[in-house]
Amino acid sequence: KKYVYLFEEGGAGMKNLLGGKGANLAEMTNIGLPVPPGLIITTEACNEFYVHDRQFPPGMEAQVREKIAVLEEKAGKKFGDPANPLLVSVRSGAPISMPGMMDTVLNLGLNDRTVEGLAKAADNRRFALDCYRRFLNMFGDVVLGIEHARFEHILENRKEARGVKYDHELTAEDLQLVVQEYKQLIERETGRPFPQEPVEQMFAAIYAVFNSWNNDRAIVYRKINKIPDDLGTAVNVQVMVFGNLGDDCGTGVAFTRNPSTGENKLYGEYLINAQGEDVVAGIRTPQSIDKLKEEMSAVYEQFAATCERLEKHYRNMQDIEFTIERGKLYMLQTRTGKRTAQAAVKIAVDMVEEGLITKEEAVLRVEAAQLDQLLHRRIDPNARLEVIAKGLPASPGAASGQVVFDADEAEKLGAQGEKLILVRTETTPDDIHGIVAAQGVLTSRGGMTSHAAVVARGMGKPCVSGCEAVRIDYDAQEFHAGSLVVKKGDLISIDGATGQVMLGRVPMIDPELSDEFQELLRWADGIRTMSVRANADTPEDAAKARSFGAEGIGLTRTEHMFMAQDRLPIVQEMILAGSLEERRAALDKLLPMQQGDFYGILKAMEGLPVTIRLLDPPLHEFLPNAEELLVEITRLRLTGGDPAELKAKESLLKKVRALSEFNPMLGHRGCRLGITFPEVYAMQARAIFQATVQLVKEGCQVIPEVEIPLVGEVKELAILRRVVEEEAEKVIKESGVKFAYSVGTMIEIPRAALLADEIAQEAEFFSFGTNDLTQTTFGFSRDDAEGKFLHEYVEKKILPDDPFVVLDRRGVGKLMHMAVDLGRRAKPDLFIGICGEHGGEPDSIEFCHQIGLNYVSCSPYRVPIARLAAAQAKV
Ligand code: ADP
Ligand code: MG
Ligand code: MG
Repeated sequence: KKYVYLFEEGGAGMKNLLGGKGANLAEMTNIGLPVPPGLIITTEACNEFYVHDRQFPPGMEAQVREKIAVLEEKAGKKFGDPANPLLVSVRSGAPISMPGMMDTVLNLGLNDRTVEGLAKAADNRRFALDCYRRFLNMFGDVVLGIEHARFEHILENRKEARGVKYDHELTAEDLQLVVQEYKQLIERETGRPFPQEPVEQMFAAIYAVFNSWNNDRAIVYRKINKIPDDLGTAVNVQVMVFGNLGDDCGTGVAFTRNPSTGENKLYGEYLINAQGEDVVAGIRTPQSIDKLKEEMSAVYEQFAATCERLEKHYRNMQDIEFTIERGKLYMLQTRTGKRTAQAAVKIAVDMVEEGLITKEEAVLRVEAAQLDQLLHRRIDPNARLEVIAKGLPASPGAASGQVVFDADEAEKLGAQGEKLILVRTETTPDDIHGIVAAQGVLTSRGGMTSHAAVVARGMGKPCVSGCEAVRIDYDAQEFHAGSLVVKKGDLISIDGATGQVMLGRVPMIDPELSDEFQELLRWADGIRTMSVRANADTPEDAAKARSFGAEGIGLTRTEHMFMAQDRLPIVQEMILAGSLEERRAALDKLLPMQQGDFYGILKAMEGLPVTIRLLDPPLHEFLPNAEELLVEITRLRLTGGDPAELKAKESLLKKVRALSEFNPMLGHRGCRLGITFPEVYAMQARAIFQATVQLVKEGCQVIPEVEIPLVGEVKELAILRRVVEEEAEKVIKESGVKFAYSVGTMIEIPRAALLADEIAQEAEFFSFGTNDLTQTTFGFSRDDAEGKFLHEYVEKKILPDDPFVVLDRRGVGKLMHMAVDLGRRAKPDLFIGICGEHGGEPDSIEFCHQIGLNYVSCSPYRVPIARLAAAQAKV
């Protein structure tokens, strides 16, 4: 079996086999870009490695040796040749990019003899020793498992002894000493001398890269990003080029457009006389790519042209790594660049205008879930801010939280629901769990392409990096900004769009949609076939939803209206009424209030349909808590309080107890209330229709849809539908105004889905209440499940996702599909939507499209996400 490919044998289409890095290096090689030669060991070899108990598959080693000979030929250098040694990098590369998660070793092939050869060949002893110490460090860390900090410590000591600040200020003699100490460290830690034989080094490094597929941080990263564990990583062995040979050399990273804002302008950073990770590791603060134009204009021109070529070739924004060796440019990596939601939207829209992609492609380019970022609150531009420090605007958005300096601690506090800002000099892949737990990240070192910046952008969290004014004292658990001292636990705010750091919590404002965003959404509207509605209980929410493009209200809950302070006493009167007359009297008081509610919402949605659900929750939710009542009664008794009050409280307690249920979720609620207290539903229906008449008289066109919740049997619906219709007839007669309305039901009980053909006879529309449908289908109580065991179900991969977040297609979805088919068989024009929280979740929206729903309905802020996701489902 072929386990090893030369770059020229691969291509961009072979990502699964060659990994993303390898496939793109192959592609760049084949389109004639300057890429140092190399070979790729396939992901298949990695997977077999794991099947064979971590042993290389048979034949792999021989194939590697054979191709190494080809590389030697191309480079005109030989592995281990003391006169002119070949050096290589051994680089990991999974099919899906996992930046910084796995390991890479540079300058492999150096030993005590070849280092002298390298020095001679380059005529630069300092350079050769610099390569050697880097190699010993990386090999020691990645292959031999000796903590990087141990090497760092030795280097720091040397710099201190010499009184210099930067690595590049160390002389050849210094580096010679560092190399000595590194080798001693390795021998001490592993019990044997550093392996001098290049081929042995290489296979050990390949082994380590395969192993790194299952290191802790890679596993965590895959879990967060839902990357399958069985993809495996490829290994790239590539001839080294050197950015650390002098001042006509350098290394850098760049994006073909700004990954933060999307602006169409090269964006990147580089360091002169440096190698590999120096730029991203924040060793020195790098220079902006614009500066390269001045320093090496010919190289810059070539680089800019190459970037443009790559963008045209891939038709997407690229994230590029490059090195300059003695004024010559080499491309070391390209991949589709990660970007913020804002950048994703702008780039997609710009690329359509540039004729690079189609509108359909543009709609697919933006991840719907990511749009959440744009719909978040940001700092009020009119607020007076007390800025204590300013760093680089590394990932947009604003966040406030307590200062925390340690990733583990952030994780712990985050689990307790604390809002946090993780503050570090710089972050490493070992801090990922802390970034996950925090609301935002602040670093004192590192540029816009530093680890913290890249990871935060990927997660959509605000990040301010390279904020040098912030001096961190980990021991004292505080940082200094000027004369100010900020301690662990103090509140700060950061603005990742401006780089500002503020003390305390700052005022935030609601988001607005940018012009590009609106444009993209208009394209999406032109593509999608499902309509998008919002769930809204107030005229304000309805108006907000409408401004975000909602085409109706899919769910108005009436219970919130019952909860209002001034109404609760009347609602309680209604519930506690001893007779029908008493109840009617209370309902009469509620009627004008409800009418006002419906008037407001219907008016806000003039011309668009509004689904109003009749009372749903169990009645005792409106009553006082029994324990609290008992306490008050006891107090009144002991203090000999007002006997009338005592008596009233006692009778209230009795009623509360009588109404209490073992399992309210499955108790006396929804249409069951309508069956036992039809006068309640009649009042609500009347309020809806009187509001309708009022609006019709004002010349508004309104479309009320009355919805009966929790139906499981068609007779329930038949009875309650009559109640509603009778009210409508009465209101029409009383007012002399004719109006249209419809009556339908929620499908949220499995039995309703199973008997949807019968239920359809009495319904003009269905709306899937997938929150309850998920609860009742799984037999999970949501509040108990999410807090107690669901996370373990997801962790153990019993379920792919939390079914309350991502619709369970296999189970709940099957019921929905069945209900759609049965319902439409009985009534072909049956109108069907979804109003559970899944209606705003992209994966669930795709499913809704597939089973033929007419609309999805979600919270107002998710309407733009749903518009895009519905279009993506169609494309
Ligand atoms: P990662 O996946 O963490 O980005 P890479 O394999 O891309 O790791 O390596 C990191 C950096 O090492 C590269 O960006 C590049 O600067 C440097 N590097 C890798 N291979 C070579 C090479 N053959 N010559 C010079 N530099 C290299
Ligand atoms: Mg890289
Ligand atoms: Mg429900």
